[in-house]
Amino acid sequence: MDIRVNGIVQDSIVDGPGLRLAVFVQGCSHRCPGCHNPDTHDPTGGQAMDTAQIISQLAENPLLDGLTLSGGEPFEQPAACLALAEAARARGLNVWAYSGYPYEALLGMGETVQQLLRACDVLVDGPFVLSQRSLELDFRGSANQRLIDLVQTRRQGRVVLWERAAW
Ligand code: SF4
Repeated sequence: MDIRVNGIVQDSIVDGPGLRLAVFVQGCSHRCPGCHNPDTHDPTGGQAMDTAQIISQLAENPLLDGLTLSGGEPFEQPAACLALAEAARARGLNVWAYSGYPYEALLGMGETVQQLLRACDVLVDGPFVLSQRSLELDFRGSANQRLIDLVQTRRQGRVVLWERAAW
């Protein structure tokens, strides 16, 4: 399946816990002022790849803990991101996804988006808000963004925030 990608980091330690394959998809309609990655905005930029190429990269590194879907806006390419998420889960990896859309907005965005949410463990949601920017936040750029534990959120029927496991 085709996917438009800005870049891939094969050994990220900053896009979620542990060692991760981080896929930065191309195309983002949010255009947040102060965005850290404006090269990703143009949906015709970046490069076209086949999801099979990325899935084979997942298979090549036995040390990976997870897959991170970032961007760009992963939920604007939901079918391709779903294929990646399902392949990661089949390998026992956890899946984190970033979105400029709030979780509640994603819930109203169609079946493929719902499938992608169900294939993810954690969602980092909401746009980057420059006035709420902080360098002290875990895995996110501004304080309005939430780290949502999607597994517990589904189980409890309310938004449950992800917390780093105690050592
Ligand atoms: S959602 Fe993310 S990639 Fe898109 S404009 Fe906002 S900060 Fe940039």
